[in-house]
Amino acid sequence: MNLDPTLNADLHCHSVISDGTLTPEALAERAKVGGVQLWALTDHDELGGQQRAMDAARAVGLPYLTGTEISVTFANRVVHIVGLGFDHTAAEMIEGLRATRGGREARAREMATSLAQAGIHGAFEGALKYVGNPDLISRTHFARFLVDAGHCSDIPEVFRRFLTEGKPGFVPHKWARLSDAVGWITRAGGVAVIAHPGRYDFTPTEEYALITEFIAHGGRGIEVVTGSHTAAEFVQYSDTALEFGLLASRGSDFHCPEESRIDLGQLPPLSTRLTPVWAELADRIQA
Ligand code: AMP
Ligand code: MN
Ligand code: MN
Ligand code: MN
Repeated sequence: MNLDPTLNADLHCHSVISDGTLTPEALAERAKVGGVQLWALTDHDELGGQQRAMDAARAVGLPYLTGTEISVTFANRVVHIVGLGFDHTAAEMIEGLRATRGGREARAREMATSLAQAGIHGAFEGALKYVGNPDLISRTHFARFLVDAGHCSDIPEVFRRFLTEGKPGFVPHKWARLSDAVGWITRAGGVAVIAHPGRYDFTPTEEYALITEFIAHGGRGIEVVTGSHTAAEFVQYSDTALEFGLLASRGSDFHCPEESRIDLGQLPPLSTRLTPVWAELADRIQA
Protein backbone atom coordinates (compact mmCIF):
# COMPACT_ATOMS: atom_id res chain seq x y z
CA MET A 1 0.00 0.00 0.00
CA ASN A 2 1.24 3.45 -0.97
CA LEU A 3 1.58 5.49 2.23
CA ASP A 4 2.72 8.84 0.83
CA PRO A 5 1.16 12.18 1.92
CA THR A 6 -1.22 12.25 -1.06
CA LEU A 7 -3.11 9.13 0.08
CA ASN A 8 -6.85 9.80 0.34
CA ALA A 9 -6.95 9.04 4.05
CA ASP A 10 -10.00 10.08 6.07
CA LEU A 11 -9.12 9.58 9.74
CA HIS A 12 -11.87 11.51 11.53
CA CYS A 13 -15.64 10.92 11.45
CA HIS A 14 -18.57 10.02 13.71
CA SER A 15 -21.30 7.37 13.71
CA VAL A 16 -24.52 6.81 15.68
CA ILE A 17 -22.28 5.42 18.44
CA SER A 18 -21.51 9.09 19.25
CA ASP A 19 -23.01 12.14 17.52
CA GLY A 20 -23.12 11.07 13.88
CA THR A 21 -26.32 10.00 12.14
CA LEU A 22 -25.01 7.06 10.06
CA THR A 23 -24.11 3.55 11.22
CA PRO A 24 -20.49 2.34 11.02
CA GLU A 25 -21.58 0.13 8.10
CA ALA A 26 -23.13 3.04 6.17
CA LEU A 27 -20.01 5.14 6.80
CA ALA A 28 -17.71 2.40 5.48
CA GLU A 29 -19.81 2.21 2.33
CA ARG A 30 -19.88 5.99 1.95
CA ALA A 31 -16.11 6.26 2.50
CA LYS A 32 -15.48 3.63 -0.16
CA VAL A 33 -17.78 5.37 -2.66
CA GLY A 34 -16.15 8.72 -1.79
CA GLY A 35 -12.74 7.39 -2.83
CA VAL A 36 -11.26 7.02 0.66
CA GLN A 37 -8.17 4.78 0.62
CA LEU A 38 -7.60 4.57 4.39
CA TRP A 39 -10.37 5.11 6.92
CA ALA A 40 -10.81 5.51 10.70
CA LEU A 41 -14.06 5.91 12.66
CA THR A 42 -13.34 8.27 15.58
CA ASP A 43 -16.45 8.39 17.77
CA HIS A 44 -16.26 10.75 20.76
CA ASP A 45 -15.06 9.03 23.97
CA GLU A 46 -16.26 5.62 22.76
CA LEU A 47 -14.86 2.47 21.13
CA GLY A 48 -18.24 0.74 20.80
CA GLY A 49 -18.27 1.10 17.01
CA GLN A 50 -14.73 -0.13 16.32
CA GLN A 51 -15.40 -3.80 15.67
CA ARG A 52 -18.36 -2.97 13.41
CA ALA A 53 -16.30 -0.38 11.51
CA MET A 54 -13.43 -2.82 11.10
CA ASP A 55 -15.72 -5.60 9.84
CA ALA A 56 -17.57 -3.22 7.50
CA ALA A 57 -14.31 -1.82 6.13
CA ARG A 58 -13.04 -5.32 5.41
CA ALA A 59 -16.32 -6.20 3.69
CA VAL A 60 -15.99 -3.29 1.25
CA GLY A 61 -12.20 -3.67 0.82
CA LEU A 62 -11.25 -0.48 2.66
CA PRO A 63 -7.99 -0.36 4.69
CA TYR A 64 -8.79 0.62 8.29
CA LEU A 65 -7.15 2.13 11.38
CA THR A 66 -8.86 2.05 14.79
CA GLY A 67 -9.87 5.49 16.04
CA THR A 68 -11.45 7.63 18.71
CA GLU A 69 -11.74 11.34 19.60
CA ILE A 70 -11.23 12.01 23.32
CA SER A 71 -12.69 15.07 25.08
CA VAL A 72 -9.98 16.71 27.21
CA THR A 73 -10.00 19.67 29.57
CA PHE A 74 -6.86 21.75 29.05
CA ALA A 75 -6.38 25.21 30.57
CA ASN A 76 -10.12 25.30 31.38
CA ARG A 77 -11.01 24.73 27.73
CA VAL A 78 -12.14 21.70 25.75
CA VAL A 79 -9.55 20.17 23.46
CA HIS A 80 -10.10 17.05 21.36
CA ILE A 81 -7.41 14.41 21.01
CA VAL A 82 -7.77 11.83 18.24
CA GLY A 83 -6.27 8.38 18.79
CA LEU A 84 -5.34 6.21 15.81
CA GLY A 85 -4.05 2.67 15.33
CA PHE A 86 -4.37 1.51 18.97
CA ASP A 87 -5.57 -1.83 20.34
CA HIS A 88 -9.31 -1.25 20.72
CA THR A 89 -9.54 -3.98 23.37
CA ALA A 90 -7.03 -2.30 25.73
CA ALA A 91 -8.65 -2.36 29.20
CA GLU A 92 -7.07 0.87 30.48
CA MET A 93 -8.38 2.87 27.53
CA ILE A 94 -11.86 1.32 27.65
CA GLU A 95 -12.09 2.11 31.39
CA GLY A 96 -10.73 5.65 30.91
CA LEU A 97 -13.25 6.40 28.18
CA ARG A 98 -16.08 4.98 30.29
CA ALA A 99 -15.12 7.43 33.07
CA THR A 100 -14.88 10.27 30.54
CA ARG A 101 -18.42 9.55 29.30
CA GLY A 102 -19.68 9.20 32.87
CA GLY A 103 -20.93 12.72 33.57
CA ARG A 104 -22.73 13.25 30.26
CA GLU A 105 -26.26 12.46 31.40
CA ALA A 106 -26.11 14.74 34.47
CA ARG A 107 -24.59 17.47 32.30
CA ALA A 108 -27.37 17.04 29.74
CA ARG A 109 -30.02 17.45 32.44
CA GLU A 110 -28.33 20.67 33.58
CA MET A 111 -28.18 21.86 29.97
CA ALA A 112 -31.95 21.29 29.70
CA THR A 113 -32.54 23.24 32.94
CA SER A 114 -30.50 26.13 31.58
CA LEU A 115 -32.41 26.08 28.28
CA ALA A 116 -35.74 25.99 30.19
CA GLN A 117 -34.69 29.20 31.98
CA ALA A 118 -34.32 30.71 28.50
CA GLY A 119 -37.87 29.58 27.65
CA ILE A 120 -37.01 26.36 25.78
CA HIS A 121 -38.75 23.45 27.43
CA GLY A 122 -38.43 19.68 27.03
CA ALA A 123 -34.88 19.83 25.67
CA PHE A 124 -33.59 16.76 27.53
CA GLU A 125 -36.36 14.53 26.21
CA GLY A 126 -36.09 16.29 22.85
CA ALA A 127 -32.36 15.67 22.54
CA LEU A 128 -32.73 12.05 23.67
CA LYS A 129 -34.79 11.29 20.56
CA TYR A 130 -31.64 11.82 18.48
CA VAL A 131 -29.31 9.78 20.69
CA GLY A 132 -28.07 6.47 19.31
CA ASN A 133 -26.00 5.54 22.38
CA PRO A 134 -27.59 6.38 25.76
CA ASP A 135 -24.08 6.75 27.21
CA LEU A 136 -23.26 9.54 24.81
CA ILE A 137 -25.75 12.37 24.87
CA SER A 138 -23.89 15.37 23.38
CA ARG A 139 -24.40 18.99 22.47
CA THR A 140 -24.94 17.86 18.88
CA HIS A 141 -28.13 16.03 19.92
CA PHE A 142 -29.41 19.19 21.64
CA ALA A 143 -28.51 21.14 18.50
CA ARG A 144 -30.58 18.79 16.30
CA PHE A 145 -33.52 19.17 18.70
CA LEU A 146 -33.24 23.00 18.66
CA VAL A 147 -33.27 23.05 14.84
CA ASP A 148 -36.07 20.51 14.38
CA ALA A 149 -38.23 22.21 17.06
CA GLY A 150 -37.87 25.49 15.16
CA HIS A 151 -35.75 27.42 17.68
CA CYS A 152 -32.89 27.84 15.17
CA SER A 153 -32.68 27.50 11.43
CA ASP A 154 -29.46 25.47 11.31
CA ILE A 155 -26.73 23.91 13.46
CA PRO A 156 -24.22 26.80 13.15
CA GLU A 157 -26.93 29.17 14.45
CA VAL A 158 -27.45 26.88 17.46
CA PHE A 159 -23.78 27.14 18.41
CA ARG A 160 -23.86 30.93 17.95
CA ARG A 161 -26.90 31.42 20.20
CA PHE A 162 -26.86 28.44 22.57
CA LEU A 163 -24.72 25.66 24.14
CA THR A 164 -21.44 27.61 24.11
CA GLU A 165 -19.71 29.58 26.85
CA GLY A 166 -21.91 32.40 28.17
CA LYS A 167 -24.99 31.24 26.21
CA PRO A 168 -28.12 29.39 27.41
CA GLY A 169 -27.60 25.64 27.63
CA PHE A 170 -23.87 25.81 28.31
CA VAL A 171 -22.70 23.72 31.25
CA PRO A 172 -18.98 23.59 32.01
CA HIS A 173 -17.70 20.06 32.25
CA LYS A 174 -14.56 18.32 33.42
CA TRP A 175 -13.31 15.93 30.73
CA ALA A 176 -10.21 13.71 30.65
CA ARG A 177 -6.75 15.09 31.39
CA LEU A 178 -4.44 15.66 28.43
CA SER A 179 -1.83 13.36 30.00
CA ASP A 180 -4.43 10.59 30.46
CA ALA A 181 -5.85 10.79 26.93
CA VAL A 182 -2.40 10.74 25.32
CA GLY A 183 -1.28 7.99 27.71
CA TRP A 184 -4.25 5.69 27.03
CA ILE A 185 -3.73 5.96 23.28
CA THR A 186 0.04 5.57 23.39
CA ARG A 187 0.09 2.67 25.85
CA ALA A 188 -2.48 0.88 23.64
CA GLY A 189 0.05 1.08 20.78
CA GLY A 190 -1.51 4.02 18.91
CA VAL A 191 -0.60 7.57 17.96
CA ALA A 192 -2.25 10.60 19.65
CA VAL A 193 -3.16 13.51 17.39
CA ILE A 194 -4.35 17.04 18.30
CA ALA A 195 -7.74 17.39 16.57
CA HIS A 196 -8.62 20.54 14.57
CA PRO A 197 -6.15 22.91 16.35
CA GLY A 198 -7.61 25.88 14.48
CA ARG A 199 -10.92 25.54 16.32
CA TYR A 200 -9.81 26.39 19.83
CA ASP A 201 -9.40 30.16 19.63
CA PHE A 202 -6.17 29.85 21.58
CA THR A 203 -3.66 32.69 21.67
CA PRO A 204 -0.26 31.73 20.18
CA THR A 205 1.05 31.31 23.74
CA GLU A 206 -1.80 28.99 24.73
CA GLU A 207 -1.40 26.98 21.53
CA TYR A 208 2.33 26.65 22.18
CA ALA A 209 1.57 25.38 25.70
CA LEU A 210 -0.90 22.81 24.34
CA ILE A 211 1.52 21.50 21.71
CA THR A 212 4.56 21.32 23.97
CA GLU A 213 2.66 19.64 26.83
CA PHE A 214 1.07 17.24 24.34
CA ILE A 215 4.51 16.29 23.01
CA ALA A 216 5.92 15.99 26.55
CA HIS A 217 3.17 13.41 27.32
CA GLY A 218 4.05 11.39 24.21
CA GLY A 219 1.70 12.94 21.63
CA ARG A 220 3.04 12.76 18.09
CA GLY A 221 0.45 14.03 15.59
CA ILE A 222 -1.63 17.03 14.59
CA GLU A 223 -4.58 17.41 12.23
CA VAL A 224 -3.62 19.68 9.36
CA VAL A 225 -6.26 19.09 6.69
CA THR A 226 -9.66 18.78 8.41
CA GLY A 227 -13.22 19.81 7.65
CA SER A 228 -12.86 22.30 10.53
CA HIS A 229 -9.98 24.24 8.94
CA THR A 230 -9.89 26.95 6.30
CA ALA A 231 -7.47 26.72 3.36
CA ALA A 232 -5.24 29.24 5.15
CA GLU A 233 -5.20 26.96 8.21
CA PHE A 234 -4.13 24.00 6.04
CA VAL A 235 -0.96 26.02 5.33
CA GLN A 236 -0.61 27.40 8.87
CA TYR A 237 -0.81 23.96 10.52
CA SER A 238 1.46 22.38 7.89
CA ASP A 239 4.07 24.84 9.15
CA THR A 240 3.19 23.97 12.76
CA ALA A 241 3.64 20.24 12.05
CA LEU A 242 7.05 20.90 10.51
CA GLU A 243 8.12 23.30 13.26
CA PHE A 244 7.35 20.80 16.04
CA GLY A 245 8.25 17.63 14.13
CA LEU A 246 4.66 16.33 14.36
CA LEU A 247 3.05 13.74 12.10
CA ALA A 248 0.28 15.24 9.97
CA SER A 249 -3.27 13.87 9.88
CA ARG A 250 -6.25 14.41 7.63
CA GLY A 251 -9.97 13.85 8.24
CA SER A 252 -13.34 15.27 7.27
CA ASP A 253 -14.95 15.18 10.77
CA PHE A 254 -18.05 14.00 8.92
CA HIS A 255 -21.17 13.68 11.15
CA CYS A 256 -24.25 13.75 8.93
CA PRO A 257 -25.09 14.12 5.20
CA GLU A 258 -27.33 17.15 5.88
CA GLU A 259 -25.06 18.92 8.38
CA SER A 260 -21.47 18.33 7.37
CA ARG A 261 -19.71 20.77 5.11
CA ILE A 262 -17.20 18.17 3.89
CA ASP A 263 -18.09 14.62 2.94
CA LEU A 264 -15.87 11.57 3.49
CA GLY A 265 -12.85 11.59 1.16
CA GLN A 266 -13.48 15.07 -0.27
CA LEU A 267 -10.72 17.11 1.42
CA PRO A 268 -7.61 18.28 -0.45
CA PRO A 269 -4.49 16.15 0.11
CA LEU A 270 -1.76 16.82 2.66
CA SER A 271 1.26 18.79 1.48
CA THR A 272 4.08 16.53 0.26
CA ARG A 273 6.36 18.45 2.67
CA LEU A 274 4.74 16.58 5.59
CA THR A 275 5.22 13.16 7.16
CA PRO A 276 1.72 11.65 7.36
CA VAL A 277 0.61 9.88 10.51
CA TRP A 278 -0.25 6.80 8.42
CA ALA A 279 3.40 6.34 7.39
CA GLU A 280 4.12 5.60 11.07
CA LEU A 281 1.12 3.29 11.46
CA ALA A 282 1.74 0.93 8.53
CA ASP A 283 1.77 -2.15 10.76
CA ARG A 284 -1.50 -1.13 12.46
CA ILE A 285 -3.52 -0.90 9.24
CA GLN A 286 -6.11 -3.62 8.70
CA ALA A 287 -5.79 -4.19 4.95
P1 AMP B 1 -20.01 17.68 23.43
O1 AMP B 1 -18.96 16.60 23.33
O2 AMP B 1 -21.29 17.20 23.99
O3 AMP B 1 -19.50 18.92 24.12
O4 AMP B 1 -20.37 18.12 21.93
C1 AMP B 1 -19.36 18.55 21.06
C2 AMP B 1 -19.83 18.38 19.64
O5 AMP B 1 -20.68 19.47 19.29
C3 AMP B 1 -18.68 18.46 18.64
O6 AMP B 1 -18.07 17.21 18.48
C4 AMP B 1 -19.40 18.88 17.39
O7 AMP B 1 -19.98 17.76 16.77
C5 AMP B 1 -20.51 19.78 17.92
N1 AMP B 1 -20.11 21.19 17.83
C6 AMP B 1 -19.46 21.93 18.74
N2 AMP B 1 -19.31 23.22 18.33
C7 AMP B 1 -19.89 23.28 17.10
C8 AMP B 1 -20.08 24.30 16.13
N3 AMP B 1 -19.66 25.54 16.34
N4 AMP B 1 -20.73 23.97 14.99
C9 AMP B 1 -21.17 22.72 14.77
N5 AMP B 1 -21.01 21.71 15.64
C10 AMP B 1 -20.39 21.98 16.79
MN1 MN C 1 -19.09 15.75 17.21
MN1 MN D 1 -13.80 17.58 17.67
MN1 MN E 1 -14.98 15.09 15.56
